[in-house]
Amino acid sequence: MGSLEPVGNGARLMNRTRLPQANASLYAPNTERSWWWLSITCPSCSSIHLGRVREADQAPGPRRAPCGKRITVRVRRTYGAQP
Ligand SMILES: [Zn+2]
Repeated sequence: MGSLEPVGNGARLMNRTRLPQANASLYAPNTERSWWWLSITCPSCSSIHLGRVREADQAPGPRRAPCGKRITVRVRRTYGAQP
């Protein structure tokens, strides 16, 4: 009963480049915290996810959102960075 659908072709191609882009804001460390904080607008669930990284250049790129989706983070704005 039912049908077995072949898995493979379609799914494979999705992997690398097709991650949804998530716009994020990056907040620089200050005297109270030593991490960079990220606020990510999730393209998957439309809520805001928070993340943190040690270095600003770790912020952009692929990441697993707390809702379980894989996304690619794009930093649109950076706040509080020292010139
Ligand atoms: Zn999400």
